[in-house]
Amino acid sequence: MNQRIALFPGSFDPFTKGHEDIVLRGLEIFDQVIIGIGHNANKKRYFPLDVMMQRIETTFENYPQVQVMAYDDLTANKAREMGARFLLRGLRNTTDFEYENSIAQVNRYVYEEVETVFLITSPHLAPISSTIIRDLHRYGHNIDEFLPYQIVQV
Ligand code: ADP
Repeated sequence: MNQRIALFPGSFDPFTKGHEDIVLRGLEIFDQVIIGIGHNANKKRYFPLDVMMQRIETTFENYPQVQVMAYDDLTANKAREMGARFLLRGLRNTTDFEYENSIAQVNRYVYEEVETVFLITSPHLAPISSTIIRDLHRYGHNIDEFLPYQIVQV
């Protein structure tokens, strides 16, 4: 039978408990979830790519159905290349919706068969955003409670 493979694309700078929740819930629907860190070589990240990949791998070390990779391409092209007919995304609020709506249309334009599946965030994780976590970290606040791994030594 055909495997149902989903690509979960994002910047994941950093990967948070909100993202972890989407992956774990995605596994109820899909046989395989590929976490794709979209990385433009010209754009600087706050948390280095290799550190984040390693932390995400550790987070899902007991889940062989979860893979992590970095890519520098259109998300829809990457999905097609990976044999992923589904894109997985999380929705926190109407701001997310506006953005996700346009992105989903563009992805469909690039890869006609792709289907974007949205999971509504779990309420207790809705306030978590990578942007806010970066600010907390930048000014010396501990961010451990928002992450499914220890960040230390970045
Ligand atoms: P991008 O830069 O592509 O928006 P992000 O890493 O910020 O990448 O987010 C990736 C996906 O995870 C997006 O669909 C985003 O809406 C979703 N997401 C981010 N934070 C949460 C959260 N706390 N709960 C659920 N989904 C979330």
